[in-house]
Amino acid sequence: MSAPVPDLAALHALGPAQQPSYPDRAAVDAAVARLRQMPPLVFAGECDDLKAKLGAVARGESFLLQGGDCAETFDGVTADNVRNKLRVLLQMAVVLTYAASVPVVKLGRLAGQYAKPRSSDLETRDGVTLPAYRGDAVNGFDFTPESRVPDPQRLVDVYNSSAATLNLVRAFVTGGYADLRQVHTWNTDFVRESPVGQRYEQVAGEIERALTFMQAIGADPDEFHRVDFHSSHEALVLEYEHAMTRVDSRTDTPYDVSGHFVWIGERTRQLDNAHVELLSHIRNPIGVKLGPSTTPDDALALAAKLNPENEAGRLTFITRFGAGRIREGLPHLVEKVNAAGVEVAWVCDPMHGNTFEASSGYKTRRFDDVIEEVQGFFDVHRSLGTWPGGVHVELTGDDVTECVGGGEELLEADLGGRYESVCDPRLNRVQSLELAFLVAEMLRKA
Ligand code: PEP
Ligand code: MN
Repeated sequence: MSAPVPDLAALHALGPAQQPSYPDRAAVDAAVARLRQMPPLVFAGECDDLKAKLGAVARGESFLLQGGDCAETFDGVTADNVRNKLRVLLQMAVVLTYAASVPVVKLGRLAGQYAKPRSSDLETRDGVTLPAYRGDAVNGFDFTPESRVPDPQRLVDVYNSSAATLNLVRAFVTGGYADLRQVHTWNTDFVRESPVGQRYEQVAGEIERALTFMQAIGADPDEFHRVDFHSSHEALVLEYEHAMTRVDSRTDTPYDVSGHFVWIGERTRQLDNAHVELLSHIRNPIGVKLGPSTTPDDALALAAKLNPENEAGRLTFITRFGAGRIREGLPHLVEKVNAAGVEVAWVCDPMHGNTFEASSGYKTRRFDDVIEEVQGFFDVHRSLGTWPGGVHVELTGDDVTECVGGGEELLEADLGGRYESVCDPRLNRVQSLELAFLVAEMLRKA
């Protein structure tokens, strides 16, 4: 038995950051009431399975690959889009598993990633100021007064869009698409022709020969035909996460059944505030983003509050320092947390400390900075004898032009070609595969 989950009013009394200012309280109550009636999107037992896998990550036996859009959109819930994201994650996971011989835990940043923290409440364009876009969970991307008003009905739309996405993902991962014998068919269209696509072809060929051999000797385990895949998102809008928190009948403890894994963002990780409070009560595996201002005491206090039983797999620290700061900033954090005997999986988000505005006005990231931060992360962990447990990346399965660099040497001048993100810039499919090969190399040495 655990302490009861505080009600929404009690959480709001703590003054949480980054919440929508809804104009119509009655409409919020109606949306929350509707959500409370909806069936769970994920099952508590699945969350426990993921927690056990993340326990292996914390112990240094597995590697986490967590990726997807910065912000999903309702319009983006199409069969092609969901399949493309899944496909690039499957390709990356195969590269990491095969090249580094380490089990890879696959976690989508999808089926719930609809709410965004913003550095400013307002956005000004050509002298017009409106509320900032906070993700499809809150308001519309269109820059008009009507579209930018927070609408709580959108929380119900988040539920429905997440349900549709998860339904398709579940079908793909168990229904044959993720079968290892499909390893060649994931390498389609524009990627196949690229140098990294050719490199992937080779790996796929080797895997296929191994599978044929296994089959010839009569071995055909279930693991060849399906993959474990879980969902994750930032737990940001309290109304949504609270309404989706349910007491699990098996264990009589609360789980947030909006996704398998939820994390607290860099802007909402205040120890005595609502997000940390709410997530301290749920039993899912959870994460906290840690930026360069995090002190070792902050990290220790978060661990004490969020994982008082020091259970491996319960808590993941996702560090996002920036390529220029990680080598200096990360060591003292890891050192102190490790010395205190805290069980945690360390994961590198090489995206959020490396964003800048190109002269054309597009928000972008350099592929080389992303790689440099991951390399710094691996180097720091190697020097301390701790395990670099995984990567958390913003990516898409499409051929977008949002991050500069990579093997295709995308330039700032190319950004306008296909910039589709409504929030942060994502690695495209070629850049994502390149990252996987480079990380596999680092893992092999780790
Ligand atoms: C994000 O993951 O999209 C995000 C906003 O990250 P952070 O909280 O680390 O800034
Ligand atoms: Mn982002």
